[in-house]
Amino acid sequence: MDSTRSIRARTVLEGLSVGDAFGEMMAYGHSGVRGRVALGVPAGPWWWTDDTAMALGIEECLHRCGAIEEEMLAWIFARNFKHDPDRGYGKMAAIILRQIGAGELWESASRSAFSGGSMGNGAAMRVAPLGAWFADDLDRVVAEAMKSARVTHWHPEGIAGAIAVAVATACAWQTREIEHAEARKVITEAVLRLTPPGDTREGLVAAVSLEPRLSPDVAGRRLGNGSLVTAPDTVPFVIWSALRSLDDFQEAVIATVEAGGDCDTNAAMVGGIVAARLGASGVPPEWIASREALPPVDGVQVPGQALRD
Ligand SMILES: [Mg+2]
Repeated sequence: MDSTRSIRARTVLEGLSVGDAFGEMMAYGHSGVRGRVALGVPAGPWWWTDDTAMALGIEECLHRCGAIEEEMLAWIFARNFKHDPDRGYGKMAAIILRQIGAGELWESASRSAFSGGSMGNGAAMRVAPLGAWFADDLDRVVAEAMKSARVTHWHPEGIAGAIAVAVATACAWQTREIEHAEARKVITEAVLRLTPPGDTREGLVAAVSLEPRLSPDVAGRRLGNGSLVTAPDTVPFVIWSALRSLDDFQEAVIATVEAGGDCDTNAAMVGGIVAARLGASGVPPEWIASREALPPVDGVQVPGQALRD
């Protein structure tokens, strides 16, 4: 087992799951999230949702196979869904996972969703641990992210969203020792270079030219805040929000939730990306303690130690 890769992935999962659970809890009344946190850490447990459940599935697949094997990943996703279905899965995700669980081939289930594959944000929401696992090789990140996405998201936009978030996560780790402004440039360049053409990438072009000082609410209205739950409506805002707060996990997640929309998924993606830069010590310990515990992975050291250790 490559413990560096596995620790990186688990660290990013900590950030992703805290973002997911925090976003889910704060979705109702999201515009007041900053004031609610100022009163103290909200009482736990903060329950994590499908974003974390599926990210755990990706982590398990990487541990078992050392790469994304689609059949294995489909089996893990379907098994996890069957054992614990009430995690807020989207309707189409539930249909696909039931079909796979009933023995249908993942490719036919994924292809036939919405007659041409799903362009939902579900492949992007779960991919950050993969970006961390392969963080030293961006070409590999792209190839593995594509495989991980198409198990449930056959549509090119669903895949593009996953590639963008995986690349951003990997680059956030690569640039962890570089100051914010320069890191932002490097991450931006890689995400635009490696995300395939289409609506998601066009949204990313708009996102990276948008002023970081803009309020998240306005940015979310311009770029889309995930209320359509598609990759093009979600990933550009997520990248904008992660890039503006790379050095502050709490601010990144709060600002992301302020914009409303798909709060848990948006914050899961941002939390994963920012944790890749900051390491586990960058995620407030009292937030980790308030979040519902994550199941352990055999042989994985659960962080307490930062990525940069
Ligand atoms: Mg969710």
